[in-house]
Amino acid sequence: MTVRVRMAPSPTGLLHIGGVHTFLFNWLFARGRDGACMLRIENTDTSREVQEATEQIQRSLTWLGIDWDGPVTFQLDAIERSRELAARLVEEGAAYEDEGAIRFRMPEEGVTGWDDAVRGRIEFPNEQLEDVVLVRSDGRPTYNFASPVEDMDDAITHVIRGDDHISNTPKQIQILHALGHEPPVYAHVASILGTDGKKLSKRHGAVSVDEFHEAGYLPDALVNFLALIGWAPDGETTIMTRDEIVERFTLEAVSASPGTFDHAKLDWMNGVYLRALAPDAYADEVVKYLGERGVDWPEDRVRAMAPLVQEKVARLGEIADFTRFLFEDVAPDPSLLDRRILEAAAQALAAVDDWTAAELEVALKRLCEDLGEKPRTVFAPIRVAVTGSRVSPGLYESLELLGRETSLERLRRGAELTA
Ligand code: GLU
Repeated sequence: MTVRVRMAPSPTGLLHIGGVHTFLFNWLFARGRDGACMLRIENTDTSREVQEATEQIQRSLTWLGIDWDGPVTFQLDAIERSRELAARLVEEGAAYEDEGAIRFRMPEEGVTGWDDAVRGRIEFPNEQLEDVVLVRSDGRPTYNFASPVEDMDDAITHVIRGDDHISNTPKQIQILHALGHEPPVYAHVASILGTDGKKLSKRHGAVSVDEFHEAGYLPDALVNFLALIGWAPDGETTIMTRDEIVERFTLEAVSASPGTFDHAKLDWMNGVYLRALAPDAYADEVVKYLGERGVDWPEDRVRAMAPLVQEKVARLGEIADFTRFLFEDVAPDPSLLDRRILEAAAQALAAVDDWTAAELEVALKRLCEDLGEKPRTVFAPIRVAVTGSRVSPGLYESLELLGRETSLERLRRGAELTA
């Protein structure tokens, strides 16, 4: 049996991190089994908002490297088919008309159950299942009808979705049986909670995939991080390539209890991914990221700056503020400057022949000795004068890249600012 799964977003806004988490599980499951992963938009109309959300969903998935097979399909296109099947069920006595709507006739006795691939056996007494509406009086099929119909027509083998759909499942199973179709395997993935144990929401910071892109997370890091929410190959492994995750992913190892979205862990992981990039690849990412955000700094200089920050930032979004002093003038806080040190530094550095980080280091260390001060005392005002901030990339490398003229000019101006 070839595995066939579907990612079925409702186009109601930006793709949420919880949604993409279940889509990732679908994708990992299919890709590890030579299966097919479809993208099905569960739209009930064709408004502009739907159009926009549909495009945004595809953009977000593409950015994350979560691809799909075949064309994107739309639930709305299944309207006619759903109506025909509903009419058939009415003819067969499995459904009935009720004030213009068509309702399914649920069995009144017995239980409906399934072996959930994540949660084990789940059963509902049939007396608890209401006669669910299949087609509304205005002719539109409901989600609970269109969805299993599409699962049947698309020959979906595994429905991997959020656990908020558990209560829909017995209804969908009954409908599929009435249609003469064997239901797929169901796997209900637990929702994601914030570190405070509450359902993940805006309160916890970024929640749409777009926001993570914007903040400068790498798709591979986000995928690695999301894969490990509610799934673990063993107790230890954290950093894994996409291929390794695909290879090791199984539904049996997905946890039935809610996973936690830990922003600090994501930042740590993203930093690991950023540092692991080859210098050129890292520079490419920085150039692309800044370019997409309309930062118009000269590319060769951005590339020269990249090695200064590769070890220092957890997100690409931190880079612009951190390195702005290399591209734009600075406005240091005079209270953090020190006239004696800055004048001495300007003089000492003016005598450096070879304006390289190595020579600048030698000169600045000698300056500390000459002034009889600790490096911390000497470097702090220099850093503020040159970078405009108390935190910056490495001082020697920053001075080198900034160049002799600008560096000396900023040291002298810093000294004057203290007066
Ligand atoms: N559109 C549903 C959702 O976004 C998915 C339903 C399903 O997978 O059956 O929650």
